[in-house]
Amino acid sequence: MALATPIIACAYAEIALKGRNRSVFLRKLINNIQSALKGEEISSVKHVESRLLVNLDDPTRAPEVAAKLKNVFGLQWISPVVAIPRDEVDPELREDLEANEEPRLTKVGEVACALAEETRAGARNFKVETRRSDRKFGLTSPEISRAVGYTVHTKTGLPGKMVGPDLVVNVLILKENVLVFSEKIPAYGGLPLASSGRTMVLLSGGIDSPVAAWLMMRRGSRPEFVHFYSGRNLDEADVEKIKELAGILARFSPVPLTLHMVPVVPYEMRAIGTVEDRYDMVMFRRFMVKTAVRLAKRGSCLGLVTGDSLGQVASQTLPNLGAISSDVDLPILRPLIGMDKMEITAWSKEIGAFKTSILPYRDCCSIRSPRPILNAKAEDLLEYSEKMNLDEAVAEAIENTVRFKILPC
Ligand code: ATP
Ligand code: MG
Repeated sequence: MALATPIIACAYAEIALKGRNRSVFLRKLINNIQSALKGEEISSVKHVESRLLVNLDDPTRAPEVAAKLKNVFGLQWISPVVAIPRDEVDPELREDLEANEEPRLTKVGEVACALAEETRAGARNFKVETRRSDRKFGLTSPEISRAVGYTVHTKTGLPGKMVGPDLVVNVLILKENVLVFSEKIPAYGGLPLASSGRTMVLLSGGIDSPVAAWLMMRRGSRPEFVHFYSGRNLDEADVEKIKELAGILARFSPVPLTLHMVPVVPYEMRAIGTVEDRYDMVMFRRFMVKTAVRLAKRGSCLGLVTGDSLGQVASQTLPNLGAISSDVDLPILRPLIGMDKMEITAWSKEIGAFKTSILPYRDCCSIRSPRPILNAKAEDLLEYSEKMNLDEAVAEAIENTVRFKILPC
């Protein structure tokens, strides 16, 4: 029996816990799925009994569609399924029950066998797991598992194994269909992108900030990116690397994103001769944060995101983090603050950014003074800001900012 899987079933994660505004999140999730699958021939995306069912016109595209769905935040897992209409299952069950015979569920069993053969040729044992969304089905979940398991065992010869089986055949009883599937592709969970407000992400060319951006995107925030480059003009900056990092993140977004490229020269011209060497790094951070806040407000972003990790480098000591942003009136979100570099690197690889992040790049932070102060005081930074006219530096930097539209790469 050759199987076509014209439906992909998706389970959503945290949205299930939402109360009254659950439908708002669901609508967003469905829109995001539709955007992610633009270009695929999809006849519908339906919400059916706590699952989202994506109906494909071309079943051979199932693997590609599943891969695209993996990048849609809000989904917990994704499965190509075989759907058997209930009117092909119920009459036989009714007959068996009326005749007082052991229920067979032949059709479900046959599909389960075909799945076992098609998807896990090397499996040495199996288990059937059943869930009933329609509780009025004539059998309990264990009874269904037993009936389907019996067919799989007699037809394939595979023994059942309840703990750690090679193959799990899942049966899900819905009101109109029985879904049978063996593959459960884990997705990233979280909340649908653009359901939690916008943020301005300070994106460096390194490993950390793309991961920070991704983690906040997974919480539903739609990002804009800002990158600060050294050099007299954009030609001297490695724009392509930053665009590529932003493009990798855009793979997880249903809409194109924006990247702001900001020159650091306006800061440098005013800091030279005014800001002591050991204060340069923290003052420079302050310049970045202040500029990012201005851009954020213009773009209706409600917070900043950085890749700071406590104590990772001198500018990220607790006193410095506090002093840099003592008078900032937007929340600064730092999703990596408690993570170590190994964890961050693992995420970087998972999201596909690592290879680009480690390409050589002359970041403007790497050319700052090598011995920065570790416990800067807010008052001192405010004083330096006055002396060097930081506000003017920020205004000039913003005037010379260039914006790019970022598509997935
Ligand atoms: P990353 O932290 O991304 O690996 P990094 O380690 O070179 O890069 P840090 O010195 O740790 O950067 O900087 C801490 C944070 O400050 C970054 O995660 C990023 O959010 C922000 N940042 C640093 N440099 C830049 C830059 N040139 N443009 C925009 N943001 C920056
Ligand atoms: Mg870092």
